[in-house]
Amino acid sequence: MRRKDKSYQESLDIFNSIKDREIINKELNRSFIHLKFSPLVENVFLDYYFSQSLSLMRISLVLSFFVYASFGILDVMLYSEVLEKMLVVRYAVGCPLILATLLYMFYVKREKHSQLAASFLMFFIGLSIMAMLIMTSADPSQKYYAGLVLVTFYAYMAIGLRFCYATAVGWAVAGAYFLLSFFAIKPGFPFLVGNTFTLFFANIIGMVGNFLFEKSVRRGFLLSILYKIESQNLKEANAKLEKLSNTDGLTKVANRRYFEEFLEREWMRAMRYKYSISLLMIDIDYFKNYNDHLGHQAGDQCLIKIASVLKTFERRPGDIVARYGGEEFVVVLSDTSAEDARRIAEEIRRKVMSLKLSHPDSSVNDVVTISIGVAAMIPSESITKEKLIEEADKFMYQAKAYGRNQTVSAKME
Ligand code: GH3
Ligand code: MG
Ligand code: MG
Repeated sequence: MRRKDKSYQESLDIFNSIKDREIINKELNRSFIHLKFSPLVENVFLDYYFSQSLSLMRISLVLSFFVYASFGILDVMLYSEVLEKMLVVRYAVGCPLILATLLYMFYVKREKHSQLAASFLMFFIGLSIMAMLIMTSADPSQKYYAGLVLVTFYAYMAIGLRFCYATAVGWAVAGAYFLLSFFAIKPGFPFLVGNTFTLFFANIIGMVGNFLFEKSVRRGFLLSILYKIESQNLKEANAKLEKLSNTDGLTKVANRRYFEEFLEREWMRAMRYKYSISLLMIDIDYFKNYNDHLGHQAGDQCLIKIASVLKTFERRPGDIVARYGGEEFVVVLSDTSAEDARRIAEEIRRKVMSLKLSHPDSSVNDVVTISIGVAAMIPSESITKEKLIEEADKFMYQAKAYGRNQTVSAKME
């Protein structure tokens, strides 16, 4: 069963790769009388049906074996004069046939084969009952005829045959009985008419029942695929939304909200594993002047370019670059010592300068520069992550005070 589930899953995966909800809707809107889907969907359905019906078929075969074998009691009670022949048909032909089909159902690989095997079995069981009818044709009451009605209903309702197979079996049994009635069974005329009528309507009722059942299975299948597609879409939409709510709209780096969340997580982890966590507070120098001279739009472009340089320093899962405020960014570097953080900060500062974004009104340089404050701590119960931010902020302002375009960290104090 697990293997079948896997193949069903694979079929669904193929279907998922198409991701076309419209195909399913089209199938759902087909006319009521339509059973078969378009080839693509039909193939997936058959895999699905196979996975769902195989165990039912096995159980049903076990049941049919016991029912068929139990009728031997009736053979003994009713027809002792031809008992030997009847028991040969029942126990040497019918029962082994059922068992062989049951065994086959543990090896069958394709839906079509399982349907064909069950169909042929039902037909041959019908034939075996007809053989017994021939053996007991001296009895005008035709008692075993009822067995044919049972086989017909069994084929339609109980063994998991789909509409086309069940219909073929039902009518084949009825047709064979009709023919044999003339040549071998030879019931009286009233019996022939009555029995034919009954089998005829047993088939009609069976067809309606089986049709409605297959229809509802097919509908359930379509709805389950639709549900799968919809929930996948929803998952993707949610992921997109989450990413959007974590990202700064202008610079596309993380926003402050996500930075707080991220730092909280990293802070706890660093506390647990007792490693140093570093934070770089970065502020653009004389950015107000830049805006005033070149306009807000140019200011925005400058922020985008600087953010994309910073982004290249997000190297490990514990690192993050975020926009902290207007022209302020933060970089979190997990498991990074103060020394390393300072080295990286200097690298960042030089990289930003090498962008050579000309600044028309800066007292430190003719290109855009940044000032960086670096703080590093091994978190403990007695300090909070706000302390780390505070420290970095403090050093950043010191960098401003010392003349901007530089990095200040604890070591310089
Ligand atoms: P300092 O060197 O001391 O940091 O001087 P500053 O001019 O950079 O600092 P100040 O805090 O006085 O000015 C920050 C400016 O950043 C003010 C504001 O116009 C600009 N700014 C903030 N957010 C944005 C933004 O999203 N886009 C643009 N273009 N400018 C922004
Ligand atoms: Mg500022
Ligand atoms: Mg500034």
